[in-house]
Amino acid sequence: MRRGGAPGFAWNGKRNRGVDLTKYGPYRTPVEIYEHFRKVLGGLPGYEEHSLGETRRGRRLYAWSVGEGAASVLYTAGCHAIEFIGVEQCAAIADELAGPRRGLLEKACVWFMPVLNPDGHYKVRELIRRRLCPLVKTNARRVDLNRNFPVGFHEPHKGGIMAGSHVKLINYHGPAPISEPESKALEKLVDLARPAFAMNLHSFGEKICFPPCHYKGRTADHELFEKIGGEMAALQPHPYKVCAENEMYLTYGDISDWMYEEKGIKPFLLEIGAFGMFASPPSSWWNIFAWTCPPDAAAATANNTAACVHLVEAAIENAAHSAS
Ligand SMILES: [Zn+2]
Repeated sequence: MRRGGAPGFAWNGKRNRGVDLTKYGPYRTPVEIYEHFRKVLGGLPGYEEHSLGETRRGRRLYAWSVGEGAASVLYTAGCHAIEFIGVEQCAAIADELAGPRRGLLEKACVWFMPVLNPDGHYKVRELIRRRLCPLVKTNARRVDLNRNFPVGFHEPHKGGIMAGSHVKLINYHGPAPISEPESKALEKLVDLARPAFAMNLHSFGEKICFPPCHYKGRTADHELFEKIGGEMAALQPHPYKVCAENEMYLTYGDISDWMYEEKGIKPFLLEIGAFGMFASPPSSWWNIFAWTCPPDAAAATANNTAACVHLVEAAIENAAHSAS
């Protein structure tokens, strides 16, 4: 029997004490998050709710936009099912823009897709409820949505087990690029929003990343990515490392590469938290959920919200430059 430490599960699926997500985190359900976005953003200038289709399990996919300026920024979260902290981070960004930083909405239009993969999210909750190992990244068809995009999809995958071509692994790229309803929804959203910058919220690793993902080397915008990434890190009480995504391992069919190479967007990927094997207390080392989601969600997101909102300022500055 486990003693003391973080509430959790055995990584191997052995029955355990489980965790109450209304207390641990706490972490809200997608439906609660949707209500939060409607409540917080509704009534602000330019507010709109966007319905982007349905998942395999018939759950509606939503995005919201707010603001009336020319500079367009997109925040996405909840791509990898178990990374609930990204969803909470997305909500914290919306709170900040609806509250203290509301002035930015005069010059920007900000888009949010807080739960890209609601089927996966509810699957994680179901496993937690049954006190089973909740290690789920994929959608209902077991496709890793962050490997399901066209850039590099058909390349020979040289990145080892994280690359995306292994059918039985948690990062399988799917039968074809943009084969999944969630991927189609994101494509629809990107074509509607036409953002200049984007931020995709993930966990864990304490990193502010940018393309490329599918090859070693640098993009033509490497210096701009490093500059804006550095500005973001400077706004974090506990600064994250700023680096290209390829520094960890190569991935193929990644959303960031697709946004950058095919859609002309400058995307960042935030890896929230130093959890994993570096989580504290050590008793959480065998709690897979604690690897990606900290016990205090508000404290974890507070470190990053100003940095994330800075992307809107960067987009406003960039729009002013391209207009002049
Ligand atoms: Zn992730």
